[in-house]
Amino acid sequence: MESRWSDGEARTFRERFSQVTEELALRVYTSRLIGSESELVLHGGGNTSVKSRARDLYGDEVDVLCVKGSGWDLADIEPPGLPAVRLEPLRKLRTLDALDDESMVAEVRRALLDAAAPNPSVETLLHAFLPHRFIDHSHADAILALTNQPDGKARVASVLGDRVAWVPYIMPGFALAKLAADVLDKNLDVDGLVLEKHGLFTFGDDARTSYERHIEIVACAKRAIEDQIGDQRPLDARPVVAAREVYDVAHLVRGALAEETGDPDHPYRRWILEHRTSNEIMHFAASELGSYLATAPPITPDHVIRTKGPYLLVQRPPYRDLAALAEQLRSEVAGYRDAYREYFRRNVESKGIERVPLDPTPRIVILPGLGLFAAGDTRRAARIAADIAEHTITTKIWAASIGHYEGLDEGDLFDMEYWSLEQAKLGTADRPPLAGQVALVTGGGGAIGEGVARKLLEAGAHVVLVDIDDARLASVAERLESSACETLECDVREEGDLRDAFRRATELFGGIDLVVPNAGVAKTGALDQLELEDFEQAVAVNMRGTFLTVREALAHMKLQGTGGNIVLISTKNVFAPGAQFGAYSASKAGAHQIGRIAALEGAEAGVRVNMVNADAVFGTPENPSGLWQDVGPARAEARGLDPEDLPEYYRSRNLLKLRVTADHVGNAVVFFAAQATPTTGATLPVDGGLPDASPR
Ligand SMILES: [Zn+2]
Repeated sequence: MESRWSDGEARTFRERFSQVTEELALRVYTSRLIGSESELVLHGGGNTSVKSRARDLYGDEVDVLCVKGSGWDLADIEPPGLPAVRLEPLRKLRTLDALDDESMVAEVRRALLDAAAPNPSVETLLHAFLPHRFIDHSHADAILALTNQPDGKARVASVLGDRVAWVPYIMPGFALAKLAADVLDKNLDVDGLVLEKHGLFTFGDDARTSYERHIEIVACAKRAIEDQIGDQRPLDARPVVAAREVYDVAHLVRGALAEETGDPDHPYRRWILEHRTSNEIMHFAASELGSYLATAPPITPDHVIRTKGPYLLVQRPPYRDLAALAEQLRSEVAGYRDAYREYFRRNVESKGIERVPLDPTPRIVILPGLGLFAAGDTRRAARIAADIAEHTITTKIWAASIGHYEGLDEGDLFDMEYWSLEQAKLGTADRPPLAGQVALVTGGGGAIGEGVARKLLEAGAHVVLVDIDDARLASVAERLESSACETLECDVREEGDLRDAFRRATELFGGIDLVVPNAGVAKTGALDQLELEDFEQAVAVNMRGTFLTVREALAHMKLQGTGGNIVLISTKNVFAPGAQFGAYSASKAGAHQIGRIAALEGAEAGVRVNMVNADAVFGTPENPSGLWQDVGPARAEARGLDPEDLPEYYRSRNLLKLRVTADHVGNAVVFFAAQATPTTGATLPVDGGLPDASPR
């Protein structure tokens, strides 16, 4: 690890943020340098500060501490991410003997110059109590490999000498800030503080010095570790099992992790999975050392809210017998949950406190030969957990290779996991109705596909859009602009294509809970003039495509074992067919009937199948309905209209005199997928009211 400081870049930051003081602009620059190094900090971890002067409301200059605000990431922080807090009232707090967390947060907020600024870091007082102008704090892997040892203090002393002073473990907050300041008072010449099982603070009079001291100290620790490991293989030599296809196992893992809620209308809480297969993970998973280290506590306290304490390493998974594997996964996850509940009970009892238990589901599941799965409510949360797990594995291997890895005590871990200030980082917003669910939508490049996708994303689902037309998919994805949305090229007429799409979707998110067969084509022409080829094409896409999609969905959902929803985009033509529309109406009626049969066959597995009968969805200027582009001119001609007047004609034809949009169809899909009513095999018209098309 080397300093990335560049005078040129520093100048760019001074120019770019010329509206703030030079020191704040440079503070932003070196904060980003720290944030860009994943061996130092991950996702919102770590914090930095600068002591400066600012003007208050009266124009008077006051001493302030600009310290990282919560919700900001060092990697892309900007000046507003370092809110200014009056230094004087914060420093005065050091005279107190004790200060509870709520009062600490209130006092820090009260001292903010801008009352609307984000909450300053939970480590603000530590920054305030130290006298230095610039302070940098990270949870560097190499430092943690040294401190997370039974003799961590001696190791740090022998590697880093008197450049740093040692601060014994205390949970972040007022007491740690006081202790760190006391340690510094007795060691005024040091460049940094090493916090036991937590991380590193460095300081300096200018941005560059504080940053470069940080890099030097971490690099020195890393060199010492590498020297000590030398050529010896840190992991025992048990061979890595050949990599297997993720699909076979991912949905079994996800099925096992789905949490039974006890609510018959919404029986499972589901998770998004992120899959990783680095060399280190693969070796770790297959080694004796790995099976011991996986359950050892986290390397630094604030990881616990993302990954929980222990990881679940599945022992000798029977990959050749998927039913046995499913059973083993369920029983190991159940065992993990029991142990978690016991950990909770033990700690609230011994501490004599009351807390609301968090969910007991493991966040990291490791399978030998297959890699690591991280679980989260969202893909973002799953990716954060996966990144933390990857660095944790590296750090634990380093620690075990040079000595004996030792994590936090259980009691300390519990305090951190149930600390209100940590929980606040996760946010308290209500879970959206489809949180943790994955949807696959065919015809995803089309007008209705886009509306359905938009509404599913709004409802918290992760979405895989499949379509035969790659270009349309790409433009839909661009408009939706969501990391929770992926696209796959797929021809629904092809068995192999659909199977691949289900596999790939499962690899991307861990499984599939909602399938929306929506791909369709329209062919016009009176029966006595209809080309056989056109008829067969309508059947191939509308009916065969629906059959293949539904078949794949049912098979997948049965294996996953947590029910699911299929919402078929049907048409008002099923009940009210139109002349010249035989190929379309007949093939869609066949598809509709497949949906009704699927409702009968899926119920036992908890799979609900419902139909949405849409009519006259013309799409948007950016994504006009392909169907209407094909059939519009003929329809218009038959009615003596200009094609441009068709939307208005269809609007005035329905009872409510309302135009039907793709978003309306999306709302209907969300209604069924959210399981607001105990309904399967039903048809919901989304047509503005057409009496002769009412389901009967
Ligand atoms: Zn920290």
